[in-house]
Amino acid sequence: MVVGDITSSTDVLVIGGGPGGYVAAIRAGQLNLDVTLVEMDAYGGSCLNRGCIPSKAMISATDVAHHASEAEAMGVYADPAVDLQGMVTWKDRLVTRLTKGVESLLERSGATLIPGRAEFASPGKARIVASGEGQGAESIEFDHAIVATGSRPIEVPGFEFDGDRILSSKHALSLESVPDSMVVVGGGYIGMELATVYAKLGCDVTIVEMLDDALPSYEADLTAVVVDRAEKLGIEFHFGERALEYETFDGGLTVRTENDEGAVSEFDAEHCLVAVGREPVTDTLNLEVTEVETDDSGFIETDAQARTSQENVFAVGDVAGEPMLAHTAFVEGEVAAETIAGEPAALDHQAVPAAVFTDPEIGTVGMTESEAEEAGFDPVTGQMPMRASGRALSLDEREGFVRVVADAESGFILGAQIVGPDASELVAELALAIEMGATLEDVAATIHIHPTLSEAVHEAVKGARGQSIHY
Ligand SMILES: Cc1cc2nc3c(=O)[nH]c(=O)nc-3n(C[C@H](O)[C@H](O)[C@H](O)COP(=O)(O)OP(=O)(O)OC[C@H]3O[C@@H](n4cnc5c(N)ncnc54)[C@H](O)[C@@H]3O)c2cc1C
Repeated sequence: MVVGDITSSTDVLVIGGGPGGYVAAIRAGQLNLDVTLVEMDAYGGSCLNRGCIPSKAMISATDVAHHASEAEAMGVYADPAVDLQGMVTWKDRLVTRLTKGVESLLERSGATLIPGRAEFASPGKARIVASGEGQGAESIEFDHAIVATGSRPIEVPGFEFDGDRILSSKHALSLESVPDSMVVVGGGYIGMELATVYAKLGCDVTIVEMLDDALPSYEADLTAVVVDRAEKLGIEFHFGERALEYETFDGGLTVRTENDEGAVSEFDAEHCLVAVGREPVTDTLNLEVTEVETDDSGFIETDAQARTSQENVFAVGDVAGEPMLAHTAFVEGEVAAETIAGEPAALDHQAVPAAVFTDPEIGTVGMTESEAEEAGFDPVTGQMPMRASGRALSLDEREGFVRVVADAESGFILGAQIVGPDASELVAELALAIEMGATLEDVAATIHIHPTLSEAVHEAVKGARGQSIHY
């Protein structure tokens, strides 16, 4: 039932309260703009509620058990019991704490918070469709709007998510018990991270991937280390296989796949997790009444200020396309808010780090060696294997490496690729180096604590200068 027809106005209407939207709202508030944020589900968006944080919490919890059970070489003998419901409850507590934190940051920023779905009613007006019995529609006129509606998992035709046999990443983060077996369709970062969690919990995991390698956006020598470790955990890989259809039986399902030659294979499991990528959420917005344009895949097209093809509408985060990462959503939210406030701001994708929280982790930033060549540089690289790092060995870690790519002539650091323990943390030093325009000499001259994994970064940099001491 629709009651009332209230119209209010705001400087900045933010649609969506995930990493892109909540950061945009807080930054716009800091810049003294009058902000209204509309969120139709939960503050923190996919990242806090069903993405980054819950997945990393589950990865950490399973790592505790896995490390304890694999520490015989260190003289530790343990056989930890795992209570999946206990893990999920702990993870949910973290999520609640963080989402409440975001809500309180938003309240303190002075933003008006409206629960409900916002859709455009005209190029300068949005309608808020509140959920619940007896709630009505409210209209908001805005000077500027920031669309931050995020993304959702892509459904493979014939494999619609039901939360029972066919799981999305959200379902896989809240299972009640550890399944005996799971087929994971998709060997991208979400599929690989969750496959690792369940393999460590004792589930038989099979990954079927259409392409010929896992984590296809990363270089083969990085993914080889991760795939090798995953196989040691018992994960089975079937590359070049496309998911066709499935049929259920009592207690499970049979997933049928087909390879390029048309040969059909069958995989039985208790559940099938489908993780083949994410698509933009724009169907909640009634974009048709605006001048906002989308690309062929439905992502909103934006410029370096996160501005869409309608002058006063901005789009940030996943809905604006790759890189679909929480930290790029944060930056884009800030850039949009600053641009609206008249500040000079622009997106700079040169030094966007990315991580995969597999075992071991991958962390990358900037250019690979071949990208540097394509960009016209004469690159030099330095590589330090983890097996030569005292700290890595003291963590009982041997696999992986740090590679640094720099311009041979100027020494400017152009990129880095790391696979190994804490790669997601190690890459931050090299992201800063690229952002600051640091050279190999700058990092080589920086004293690193011994014994730490960061020394591997130092050694790789020194290696690129032909001055490696420890390798
Ligand atoms: C399993 C998993 C693990 C991940 N791990 C990582 C990681 O480790 N690191 C990383 O950087 N990224 C990770 N990501 C990606 C990360 O979650 C996204 O990049 C990030 O959440 C994007 O933020 P966003 O603000 O663009 O969108 P979202 O977080 O999706 O938020 C969009 C919000 O908009 C709301 N909304 C949509 N339509 C409307 C409307 N019309 N009106 C009002 N509200 C609306 C939604 O309810 C939602 O809350 C992961 C994702 C998944 C699924």
